Amino acid sequence: MRMGEITPDKVREFVGAWKIYARDTENPLWKKPEELRGIQERNLRHQLELAARFSPYYREVFRREKVDYEKVRSLRDLVRIPVTSKEAYLQNPLAFLLTVDPPQELDVTYEITYTSGTTTGTPAPFFNTAYDMYNISLAMRRMAEICWMTPQDTVLNLFPYGNLPHIGFYRTIHLASSVGMKLVNSLVGRDVPGFPLHRTLEEALELAVEHRATILAGIGRQERRFVLRGKQLGADLSAIRIILSLGETVTEGMREEMRANLPGEASRAFVINGYGFTECQGSFVECCELGGCHNPAPNLYYLEILDPETLRPLPDGELGLLSITHLDRRGTVLLRYVVGDLAAVENGVCPHCGRSGQRLVIRMGSTYAVRAEKVIRVGGKLINPEAVKNQLSGVKGIVEYQLVVEKEDPGNPLSQDVLTLRLSVAGRLRRDLEEEVLTRIREGVGITPRIQYVQSPEIYDPSRILKATRIVDKR
Ligand SMILES: [Zn+2]
Repeated sequence: MRMGEITPDKVREFVGAWKIYARDTENPLWKKPEELRGIQERNLRHQLELAARFSPYYREVFRREKVDYEKVRSLRDLVRIPVTSKEAYLQNPLAFLLTVDPPQELDVTYEITYTSGTTTGTPAPFFNTAYDMYNISLAMRRMAEICWMTPQDTVLNLFPYGNLPHIGFYRTIHLASSVGMKLVNSLVGRDVPGFPLHRTLEEALELAVEHRATILAGIGRQERRFVLRGKQLGADLSAIRIILSLGETVTEGMREEMRANLPGEASRAFVINGYGFTECQGSFVECCELGGCHNPAPNLYYLEILDPETLRPLPDGELGLLSITHLDRRGTVLLRYVVGDLAAVENGVCPHCGRSGQRLVIRMGSTYAVRAEKVIRVGGKLINPEAVKNQLSGVKGIVEYQLVVEKEDPGNPLSQDVLTLRLSVAGRLRRDLEEEVLTRIREGVGITPRIQYVQSPEIYDPSRILKATRIVDKR
């Protein structure tokens, strides 16, 4: 699905045509924005009450910071609650687990998943109760609806099967089962000694062919490898119609590359770049490529974008720190939790599909979110170095390149960042190449880097390292 190919009418027709979606009359995404807000605020008030009574962390914070949580009646009042840092959660994840007393039938702890890629390196447990699991399954079904999946699809789960329960692998199971799709778990990953369980990429390809998989779900980079290897082996992947790519940014170029290497009808596949994180126990997904990433469960999660300096909420569409507030959870509960990514959010009705709720929108290159510490500040603008990289792909004459970020005044951490692009060139006049590169970066990213010419081995010496380092951060 490309932007412009879909209309709210077309989407409603799709939803009406599949019983599994049509019967979901409580789907918050199809409520009017005011009605959805009513649901969110009702849930928020109850969630705060639960947090004040049963969350060791928030009980303490509310007491210490004299937070009058009962005064928080609407989403606008949320600013009365202090933000929660990632460090606070990582320090003591158990303090965020509600200990509802007396527990009801659905309050039993049902599942633990772990956050990955934390800056400290320690994975933190995130607890789901039975109540949360049912909500997650509903959210996954609504997510499948946004992605145009149907009960006739067959999902190939390409997420690695690892030592820690991770949402990538497990939510794909819920995604398939909540819709009634067929599911093939490829169990890719590395064996632990004594447990010869995992399959190779080639075996995963065989499974895809054998079961005529129509949907790939996995990490973008691995799906790309899967598609390229499939092409090499002549695997018949022509049934693939949707590629759900999570875990990292999937640029426009990567989407086109995957399509170009798929046979037949699959060369028109809908490549979705989702934004998944443990704290929302699933993924935000696109209704059409680059059209925005929908929060599939606005009844469970509310997003704010905060000014990185003042931590005050920013208006719609502005780039800032993403924070998430749980509205209806019973296991781990986080309020105004700063995820650590920069993103922009729009409220209201999606112009492409007509659904209500919040969507992440693109403000940097073709990415929805980027780790806050990766962003650089040049000329008062926030820049994602990845977006600069995207502009350089396909420029003729570049042998190697490297982006160097440093402080204008190395002694002053508050000074501007300076971006230098180091290039090694062959077979083309430097002047011509420089003009093309600078125009591309100026038009695509809005800044002009310094250019420095070097010899290839200064960037990349294959006798010393295996891979060129594209971004050097000296800050
Ligand atoms: Zn939409």
